[in-house]
Amino acid sequence: MKKFIVGNFKMNTTTHEFAKYLDKFLPLVKDSKNVVGLSIPYTHLMLASQKLVSTNVVYGSQNISTEEKGAFTGEISNLMVKDLGAYFTLVGHSEIRKKFRETNEQINQKIIRALSVNLKCILCVGETKTERNANKTKQVLKKQLEIALKGLYENELKNIIIAYEPIWAIGTGKMPTVKEIEKTVCDIRQIVLDMFSQKSAEKICVIYGGSVNQNNSANILKIKNLNGLLIGGACLDPVEFANITK
Ligand code: PEP
Repeated sequence: MKKFIVGNFKMNTTTHEFAKYLDKFLPLVKDSKNVVGLSIPYTHLMLASQKLVSTNVVYGSQNISTEEKGAFTGEISNLMVKDLGAYFTLVGHSEIRKKFRETNEQINQKIIRALSVNLKCILCVGETKTERNANKTKQVLKKQLEIALKGLYENELKNIIIAYEPIWAIGTGKMPTVKEIEKTVCDIRQIVLDMFSQKSAEKICVIYGGSVNQNNSANILKIKNLNGLLIGGACLDPVEFANITK
């Protein structure tokens, strides 16, 4: 089974640096048996549309607006991102939830916007350390997923990738054990089952993110019910990211 390995650039690299990155990265991953994705700044989408055409690497944005067009200064819409050939958009990354007070309801609107133009969504969910210590992880994920996926038809779930990203693991070098990730992925599938069906729960793509690097990625990818990885810091080194995709 192919895994979906996505690198999240966050707010890093100029377009010039990104072009140099691709020159190094693309030859290293050209034979990858996995699906490789780059979640890049909006400013890089045009370059990606030129450089990634007829490669095995897909790309997408890190966010989209809840709105499609109009008086929303500083926003980027589903149509604009799709127009530049994006395959997916990230939604609900914890940095946006926290810094911009993004709500689950806004995330739901963004998902609906993305799906309306055939953009896949990588929906990030995850608990804080405090919530984890209070044994509230499943409860938090349930609320995030129930609101974010509200109103979706079951057949739209093929365009949703759920990224389980414990907030306390992002950029910290800390992470849950393999067993704990496996258990949480099971919980996520159970929530999807309760909302939709057994078939959807089995089929939905679930990936893990949070302090993954070339030393721990192979072990995490052994988790049977896990379909891939979302990588932040470690994807900025093209050689390390290429190693992870292998
Ligand atoms: C992320 O920001 O989505 C992420 C997983 O970051 P890192 O790999 O740096 O923890």
